[in-house]
Amino acid sequence: MENNKIGIMGGTFNPIHHGHLVTAQEALDQFGLTRVIFIPTGDPPHKIEDLLADAEDRYLMTEIATSSNNNFFVSRIEIDRKGKSYTIDTVKELRQIYGMEMELFFITGADAILEILSWKDTDEIVALAKFIAATRPGYDISKIKSLKSTLFRSREEADKKIFLMEIPALAISSTDIRKRIKNCRSINYLVPEGVNNYILKHGLYKKT
Ligand code: NAP
Repeated sequence: MENNKIGIMGGTFNPIHHGHLVTAQEALDQFGLTRVIFIPTGDPPHKIEDLLADAEDRYLMTEIATSSNNNFFVSRIEIDRKGKSYTIDTVKELRQIYGMEMELFFITGADAILEILSWKDTDEIVALAKFIAATRPGYDISKIKSLKSTLFRSREEADKKIFLMEIPALAISSTDIRKRIKNCRSINYLVPEGVNNYILKHGLYKKT
């Protein structure tokens, strides 16, 4: 019988890279998820930067990167929603689709989780989803620890809601990939081949 755990992989994916894919696979395996749904942000909530690729390009690169994995899916819900992509709106929408029985694990970078849970609607969002905070090697987890003790009455309660997952492959970063492209350096093996081809074909991340 299919279990009822779904991973929600939130990210700007600007661009998606192997670190993101390894993160999703690790979450799938470690938490016994049936599938991971990648949700590229439409208009990211917290920053506008010059090298942010168009939402449709980021969506298509995510489709290309995940197409060979039967457990990975991509959703357009944030791309199609007007306005900023707030996680609370996404989780509420997913709850409407999947009902309250489904366990939802929102997977993203630890710094993004600090932002999501330090902003507003925190009690509501924590009631609707669990969080998997992916970290790069050497990441200082003290802020996540203090967030957990601020948000929850006990450590047991906190440990059931926020999980840490160190991912060595997250030494790869979208920021570094964009810099490499701008400086005409190779991004071979950092992103799936199809994504590399898409970036080249559409001349993404070249502008200063
Ligand atoms: P970001 O600030 O660009 O990323 C923070 C760090 O997390 C970066 O090191 C990033 O690495 C890494 N990261 C991002 N997505 C990841 C993923 N799925 N798996 C592993 N590492 C990941 O954050 P972002 O990408 O814009 O946002 C991440 C998610 O949090 C999105 O779904 C966004 O909508 C949500 N968010 C919501 C709020 C809110 O609702 N108030 C605020 C902030 C973020 P790379 O640069 O290599 O990806």
